[in-house]
Amino acid sequence: MKPAPFSFVAPESLDEVVQALAEHGDDAQILAGGQSLVPLMNLRLARPEVVVSINRCHELDYIRLVDDRLVVGALVRQIDAETSPLVQAECPLLAKALPHVGLPATRNRGTVCGSLAHCDPLAELPAVALALDAELVLTSAAGERRVPADDFFLTEMTTCIEPGEVVAAVALARQDPSERSALHEVSNGGHAFPVGGVALRWATVDGVCTMARIAAFGVGSVAQRLGDAEKALVGSDLGPEAIAAAVAAARAEVNPTGDIHADADYRRHLVGVLLERGLLEGEAP
Ligand SMILES: Cc1cc2nc3c(=O)[nH]c(=O)nc-3n(C[C@H](O)[C@H](O)[C@H](O)COP(=O)(O)OP(=O)(O)OC[C@H]3O[C@@H](n4cnc5c(N)ncnc54)[C@H](O)[C@@H]3O)c2cc1C
Repeated sequence: MKPAPFSFVAPESLDEVVQALAEHGDDAQILAGGQSLVPLMNLRLARPEVVVSINRCHELDYIRLVDDRLVVGALVRQIDAETSPLVQAECPLLAKALPHVGLPATRNRGTVCGSLAHCDPLAELPAVALALDAELVLTSAAGERRVPADDFFLTEMTTCIEPGEVVAAVALARQDPSERSALHEVSNGGHAFPVGGVALRWATVDGVCTMARIAAFGVGSVAQRLGDAEKALVGSDLGPEAIAAAVAAARAEVNPTGDIHADADYRRHLVGVLLERGLLEGEAP
């Protein structure tokens, strides 16, 4: 099946992208790596009148440090972030997550920001963005606004992006070298999307947990921060009791649904297993 008819524009700058979006409004849709949009268009589940490609906007292809944040531009391919020494040094949680995303072939084209804008409940990167206190940089003819990840992901395939807006970049918290982090997921083998997973990072001082960020994916309509589980860890010695309390809190916080891949009880149980595994196996960055 082929896509419904559409017109195609390929601006060469962010300003031109914003102009094209302002001109076409609700009829326009951004094309980044196309690894999710093109299959949806081929299945006619997405029918944009106008496809606005960002693939010639090389000004969006950067990874750089800005103050206390690692900023990833909208055209950065997942494979480039995965192999970036700056990402490995400053956001090891992101570097650990990327090999789990699709296949090398899809990561060659797929973008980091595209995965965030797509907001698939099974995707790893929205959970990583939550765990890294990310801010999404949204640009339109009206200017730029920065949205915390906690307010960006709304529900399945739905974010707070308004018509006329493009995600220009994502700004991630730089991880302190003493932090530990882990991403664990379960999938039905091969390169299938995961059934569920957990992304986490934490820090300790003199054996006491001073910071914890935990986010789960595949356990609801959107990636979810597990605030109660974080609270169960902060101030603790991260001993067996604290971990058990965090696991219980995590299972209580999620409200998973079942599907052909796994039922709700399995997913609830899985969150606890993967959280414990992450805390016990979390390597140094
Ligand atoms: C075989 C296969 C396996 C996969 N497995 C996984 C997996 O295990 N885990 C996973 O997370 N993903 C997986 N994916 C999806 C992949 O990661 C996609 O790359 C990602 O979901 C979308 O990124 P993209 O750059 O390809 O965006 P596109 O497909 O171009 O766009 C996706 C959506 O986001 C919007 N969009 C994209 N960029 C922007 C922007 N800058 N501003 C505003 N809106 C934007 C588009 O309009 C569209 O609605 C898989 C894909 C394939 C084909």
